[in-house]
Amino acid sequence: MDKFNNRETIEKSSFLSTFIDQNDNGKKKLSIRAKRWIVIISIHLTFFLSFYIDIQMLEGTMNGSRFLGFHLIDVYVTMQVYLASYHMPINMVIGTVTIILVYLLIGGRTYCSWVCPYGLLSEIAEKINNILVKKKIIKKREFDNRVRHIFWLMFLVLSFTSGYLVFETFNVVGILSRFIAYGWSIALVWVLAVLLIEILYSRRAWCKYICPIGTTYGYIGVVSATRIQWNNNCDHCMVCHDVCFENHVLELTKAKYAKQVEEKGIKTAYIKSGDCTLCGRCIDVCHQDALKFDFRLKGLV
Ligand code: SF4
Ligand code: SF4
Repeated sequence: MDKFNNRETIEKSSFLSTFIDQNDNGKKKLSIRAKRWIVIISIHLTFFLSFYIDIQMLEGTMNGSRFLGFHLIDVYVTMQVYLASYHMPINMVIGTVTIILVYLLIGGRTYCSWVCPYGLLSEIAEKINNILVKKKIIKKREFDNRVRHIFWLMFLVLSFTSGYLVFETFNVVGILSRFIAYGWSIALVWVLAVLLIEILYSRRAWCKYICPIGTTYGYIGVVSATRIQWNNNCDHCMVCHDVCFENHVLELTKAKYAKQVEEKGIKTAYIKSGDCTLCGRCIDVCHQDALKFDFRLKGLV
């Protein structure tokens, strides 16, 4: 990826090129996308090896696990369990609080980009969807992403009224995670169906419009310490908008925003929305180095 000489939009870049970043001196290094993929694959390889060769480092699945003996429980799973059973074992409380604290520090939807195994498949589907749109085989379809708050509430209400974790039947993240840790199941057909919807119908549809797990981490992300920071080197080229599937969070890169901040003498600003997944794709493609990760509590450490 040579962002200093090309506009590295999804359409213009080959998928493989996005794993290598090139600085303005031509020196190559791993892109943030490559680093994310290494993190995701390492996490799920550890789940796999913990079960198959019993290394006992990371046991369980994405819904609930133990890392070196510490309980980790997904927040949305805990909410569903409580609403379905009115019961919350102490280990679940400890595991959930641990996860909330971790994501308050590293960024809420960091889960979506740096941990979730479905997110990785969805990135491949996104590229295929883009090729099909470019060739005019399918149309580009976008919807109001606020629909995900309705899904979030709906699945909680269903847990409460039915006494079952209804969402877990459809949860592609849980299905994939169980597949990685324990082996095949027929439920993988559903994962394939969702991927096909993302390829043939709407870009990143599950993550953008449906997944209540991502929505929950988005709520945490509103107050989390890690953020994307923008600076006024930005020339409003909009390449970051092209690669970001939640690009409404990048309003501050638009010229009209820059004009306002210029008037106020502001040189840097944070992406405030919890919808940002901190995937770093915008940083990877920005030829002005106008975006970076920032830990807002760095003054305290
Ligand atoms: S932040 Fe970078 S990629 Fe985004 S509009 Fe500004 S210059 Fe372009
Ligand atoms: S703003 Fe950047 S880091 Fe956030 S989701 Fe979009 S591309 Fe990823």
